Amino acid sequence: MGRRSIAALAIVLSVAAAHAAARQDKAPSDAQMRLAEALTSSTELASDLRYVCDRIGGRLTGTDACRLAVSWTKSRFEEAGLDRVSLEPFSMPRSWLPGVVSASVVSPAAWDLSAATVPFSPDTRGSLQAPLFDAGSGSPADIERAGVAAAGAIGLVRTAEMKTLGDLFAEYMRDREMMRAASDAGAAGLLLMSTRPRGLLYRHPIRIDGTVAPLPIALIAREDAQRLGRLLDAKEKVEVRLSLKDTQRGLIESHNVIADIPGRERPEEIVLFGAHLDSWDLGTGAEDNGVNCATVIAVARAMKSLGLAPRRTIRFALFTGEEQGLWGSRGYVERHAGEMDDHVAAVIMDIGSGRVTGYFLNGREDLRKPVERALSAVSRYGPFEHPIEAVDGTDNFDFLLSGVPNLVANQDTTRYLPDYHAASDVFETVDAEQAAKNAAITAALLWHLADSPERPAPRQSRKEVQDLIGRTGLEPQMKAFGQWDEWTAGKRGVFSK
Ligand SMILES: [Zn+2]
Repeated sequence: MGRRSIAALAIVLSVAAAHAAARQDKAPSDAQMRLAEALTSSTELASDLRYVCDRIGGRLTGTDACRLAVSWTKSRFEEAGLDRVSLEPFSMPRSWLPGVVSASVVSPAAWDLSAATVPFSPDTRGSLQAPLFDAGSGSPADIERAGVAAAGAIGLVRTAEMKTLGDLFAEYMRDREMMRAASDAGAAGLLLMSTRPRGLLYRHPIRIDGTVAPLPIALIAREDAQRLGRLLDAKEKVEVRLSLKDTQRGLIESHNVIADIPGRERPEEIVLFGAHLDSWDLGTGAEDNGVNCATVIAVARAMKSLGLAPRRTIRFALFTGEEQGLWGSRGYVERHAGEMDDHVAAVIMDIGSGRVTGYFLNGREDLRKPVERALSAVSRYGPFEHPIEAVDGTDNFDFLLSGVPNLVANQDTTRYLPDYHAASDVFETVDAEQAAKNAAITAALLWHLADSPERPAPRQSRKEVQDLIGRTGLEPQMKAFGQWDEWTAGKRGVFSK
């Protein structure tokens, strides 16, 4: 070999080395592309969802259906070849059953009301017959305005039609003060007007803190409530009857389903991807949240079948107990309290199958750049925008309170909202094609978080979380949900000291 050819060979070698280095730089993105390809070309997400919705159905925590969902999803992780597939127990101080509801109008005309029990309303202990009074919007001022008419009577609470996530949120924010005012006024019960027209009923949990409401409450069809409202407006004397039976249950144990893809370099560090497997019972929990459970399983299966192992462990979690008060994810955080420093991030999905438009940063501006970088590989499914708002009311919350960087997928709510917690939340409501794209987006995010040399953001101290709560305005929401006292008493959120 002459000098020239040695020089040429050196050039060839250095070009090859440069290519190899470039390949290594692109390796994560390469994995992201392969995951996206696998997830958008598979139909298993949809068939898993069909099984969960149709073969299992509504999955209230504590019921046989929920237990079946837990064991079936565990077997799906096992079939996919995941590691450390296990059921982790936790307990809920109080659980709820649909029980039996009957509501009717006695006078001035007699008809049966289409009604649903309100989770964590007390039983009526027999049938309650009482005059109906106008409780307006359910605000303390409106209830006080009813004066003595409220004592011993049942209040009709009127609502605006729910159109946006903000409207839905306002419905929950109303409850605590409404119940306080109604029981102060000596009311015997409340009938809540459904926020959805055409007779649609849904579960509206009135308490999610393990306590029972101070007075019996039922939700009635919007059209029934509107008719009652017109009778009250016409100054008619209206008498109604309400019976709620067998809705209460005490402490129960349930399980979260956990499965890992162990990290190749730092297996002790964990990026968690979770969704809640339990659902309300009127429908079959398709948008909320069967589709995202199927997504969790689909991402796990794709990663495993492609033989991809990121730097850190990716942990897949299907929580139960969410709808009745975030008990599963709270139980997980408490059970793994000693390992929270190793939880690098938690990513949660709970807004159905609408397009993932970005991720709620939950008050952590330091998460914006890592998330943006992660999603550059799937920009064709964008555009993405990441709200700084902090989300309370799904399984990120105890991670947030424990200082763990946490993200919640923000999604188009067009399909999710009308069927939220309702009898109409069934398989047909889901956009399976978009769900597959959402899986690709989330897989890209998880891969980046788990494979980057650097952590996306540090864990926060209790003091920093306190500041975050102040900054993001979470306090009124935590109070409305009955979480504030536990947080301030140090009973919520795990920290070493
Ligand atoms: Zn949900």
